[in-house]
Amino acid sequence: MQVKVNLQEIREKMKLACEKVNRSVEDITIIAVTKYVTIERAKEAVDAGVTNLGENREEGLLAKREVLMDEPVWHFIGSLQTRKVKSIIDHVDYIHSLDRLSLAKEINKRASKKIKCFVQVNVSQEESKHGIAPEETIDFIKSLDAFPNIEIVGLMTMAPFTDNEEFLRSCFRNLKALQTEVQSLKISNAPCTELSMGMSNDYSIAIEEGATMIRIGTALVGSDK
Ligand SMILES: *Cc1c(COP(=O)(O)O)cnc(C)c1O
Repeated sequence: MQVKVNLQEIREKMKLACEKVNRSVEDITIIAVTKYVTIERAKEAVDAGVTNLGENREEGLLAKREVLMDEPVWHFIGSLQTRKVKSIIDHVDYIHSLDRLSLAKEINKRASKKIKCFVQVNVSQEESKHGIAPEETIDFIKSLDAFPNIEIVGLMTMAPFTDNEEFLRSCFRNLKALQTEVQSLKISNAPCTELSMGMSNDYSIAIEEGATMIRIGTALVGSDK
């Protein structure tokens, strides 16, 4: 029940953010991040109308997928160890955390079809965050042309946890600028039409700055951790 209320509230806020910048809410996908919650809660999200789910661990993904089957679209959003690729690859529709060549190599090798990937960029340049440096992103994407099973559908970032709105905004804006640059190169395996950015505390700003996929955990399904 609560998930349904949360979802309504999020949709309202999305609408407001869209109106500010003249975007359409239909262009934004909500990914319910269920990593902190039970399978039952994840099912509640699906029942409330969420069609995309995100997990950041192999165990959580496989356990929830077994119960919820093929209903939702599955996103792998966390940092991905190369040795885990084999076990998750057939169970995900999107990988949001491609950030190194060795990982790309492994995804390409294990995939039985083209995998939709986001390149994770560390726009805030924090030591603790995963992701590739902004200035290395273009060369990295060019080098992925060698991997036929990888399609770069977009860029992803995790903004720092802060309530400094201007700083958050600049992070999202930098990712958008980078996306525009990638698109201008017209690389066949990198249409790069999506921007995965915005979480519970910053999704309105991310939408104002061009997010097409927002990854929401706590504000939508809560947190049991
Ligand atoms: C956990 C997580 C989220 C969701 O975080 P909330 O703040 O709970 O909304 C989004 N993206 C990634 C990569 C995460 O690991």
